[in-house]
Amino acid sequence: MKVPFIDIKRFEDGFLDALNARWSQMTENAQFIGAEEVLRLESRLIDVLSVSSVVTCANGTDALQIALRALGVGRGDLVLVPNVTFWATFEAVVNVGADPVTVDADISDGGISLEALKEAIRAFRPKAAVIAHLYGWGSAHLQQIRLLCRDEGVLLVEDGAQCFGATYKGLPIYEGALISTTSFYPAKVLGAAGDGGAVMTDDQVLSEKVRCLANHGRDTHYSYGEVGWNSRLDSLQAAFLNLSLDHLDARLASRRNAVSFYRRTLPELGITLMDAPVDYEENGYCNVCLIEDPGCRSSVEGVLKKEGIGFGNIYPGVMSRQKGAERYLKAHFGGDEGERLCASVLNLPLFPYMTESELQRVADVMAKALKS
Ligand SMILES: *Cc1c(COP(=O)(O)O)cnc(C)c1O
Repeated sequence: MKVPFIDIKRFEDGFLDALNARWSQMTENAQFIGAEEVLRLESRLIDVLSVSSVVTCANGTDALQIALRALGVGRGDLVLVPNVTFWATFEAVVNVGADPVTVDADISDGGISLEALKEAIRAFRPKAAVIAHLYGWGSAHLQQIRLLCRDEGVLLVEDGAQCFGATYKGLPIYEGALISTTSFYPAKVLGAAGDGGAVMTDDQVLSEKVRCLANHGRDTHYSYGEVGWNSRLDSLQAAFLNLSLDHLDARLASRRNAVSFYRRTLPELGITLMDAPVDYEENGYCNVCLIEDPGCRSSVEGVLKKEGIGFGNIYPGVMSRQKGAERYLKAHFGGDEGERLCASVLNLPLFPYMTESELQRVADVMAKALKS
């Protein structure tokens, strides 16, 4: 039996019928931009994420750019970014004209290193910092990072593209952030039928800036107080996301069930799994095995490939070593734990409604791979 790395076509019974009915009705009424589905989604997300405002936009990368600009980050400003993250985190800083400084990772939770962040703040006096909550949880030091940035006057943006549904101290991880973002890319925990994103904040003034920037910097329909973007979530996506939200709890439960299967079975095989830190309930976005021995790793990958088990490496390379970073990178701060992390991560299949037999098959192939 083959097991894909990810399969996002396993819709709930009735999902597609409900979607088609809704989409036909919207198409008949040419309801493509804004209107009730977008408004409804934003107001539901306010409850789901425990924040006071949500502004939807075209994708998670735009969300980061808009959040940075709303904070006043622009040309010539220094911004700290994690060395281990998706490229968009780095790209967003460059695209608003700011200068990125990468900061080393913490291999124990995949987040930014608190020590390196502290020292980088003292050394560079940056205007802002971006952190990314990878793998379905956040940093073990989230509270300290938020306080540190507040005390040092560093504007903190939290890239929450992978942590939708994860909780920190019993609340959505977005709660308590100065400003945070998410992505509705189809493979994310709350995925659209295309691209989408959102910016969250509790600050009313910031939220208005975000809304203005996402809508061409408009004050009124034909008057512009800023140069912004056309970054809209379209209504068909919003309808898809509203329907998906109805099933969010079931999808999270299924993801977490797969996570607990892996947490029960893989350590018995001698595999080290990265754990969500205390205070977190993970959303089941990712399974993270850590295999430091390159020989072992490539032989395991060989067996997985031969047996038709999908796998991945989120992420295989640090930001500071990307060719595209060369022209823009001001500095890298801290050590090379990020490189070690990138060389060690092996992600196994994990998606909603994986069956028990698929999970068992992955575990069996892993057992075989580790014996050979
Ligand atoms: C997916 C992702 C993004 C970008 O989101 P898009 O919607 O694809 O633009 C940014 N940061 C992280 C950590 C992501 O995983």
